Amino acid sequence: MSRPVEPVYNRILLKLSGEALMGSQPQGIESGILKDIGGELREIQDLGIQVAVVIGGGNLFRGVAAAAEGIERVTADQIGMLATIMNGLALSDALEKFGLVTRVMSAISVHQFTEPHIRRRALRHLEKGRILIFVGGTGNPYFTTDTTAALRAIEIGADVIIKATKVDGVYTGDPEKEPDVEKLARVSYQDFLQRGLGVMDATAISLCMENHLPIAVFDLRKRGNLKRLVLGEAVGSLVQDPDK
Ligand code: UDP
Repeated sequence: MSRPVEPVYNRILLKLSGEALMGSQPQGIESGILKDIGGELREIQDLGIQVAVVIGGGNLFRGVAAAAEGIERVTADQIGMLATIMNGLALSDALEKFGLVTRVMSAISVHQFTEPHIRRRALRHLEKGRILIFVGGTGNPYFTTDTTAALRAIEIGADVIIKATKVDGVYTGDPEKEPDVEKLARVSYQDFLQRGLGVMDATAISLCMENHLPIAVFDLRKRGNLKRLVLGEAVGSLVQDPDK
């Protein structure tokens, strides 16, 4: 008799960029994508995995780009953080319609719309099987939601950050633009930083390196990929300590 396959992670932090919500649209949120994400998350919750999500805002607003257009950088970043709240509320709504129980926690105070970020409460939600959506970034300008993902993952003791991208892992260049790039199934934090690989920013990688938190990079758009990943199949790439 074959043994049931056990997940390799107990608690994960999924980083979804704003772009991941756009689907085929040039900006905004495509409702079909939210449903797809709901389906994927339900599958892994059924395995007993605790799920936290950090959501980006790049589909609606990006601070750096707006600063380049003349808005003061701190103000632009504040608008960017507000964008992540909009995305988080939309994701929460879609997941609840899927029968999943969610809680949204914000790093900035919008208490009429979300809960405040309180770590102990976050842990309680996860233990109760609620999908926890972190919004508002770190609450500070000059940071990204990738760094937020690293910070929150460490705070809640996640086993891994799972970073959804448009490509199926870490490449030596941009596979959509350069034909001869190589996929790196495993790469150390140091190597990642030295080569200037673009999947995550250096602040986020450094934080993960200091805290020995692995990062799994994969393509969320391939149906069933998330489940395969948490069951230990070789999906995408892993950024981790070199001796692992
Ligand atoms: N942002 C910020 N501080 C944070 C996280 C995000 O100021 O801790 C702002 C920043 O302007 C950024 C925007 O929010 O451009 C959206 O976040 P991000 O670009 O990380 O979203 P993603 O690329 O994941 O969609």
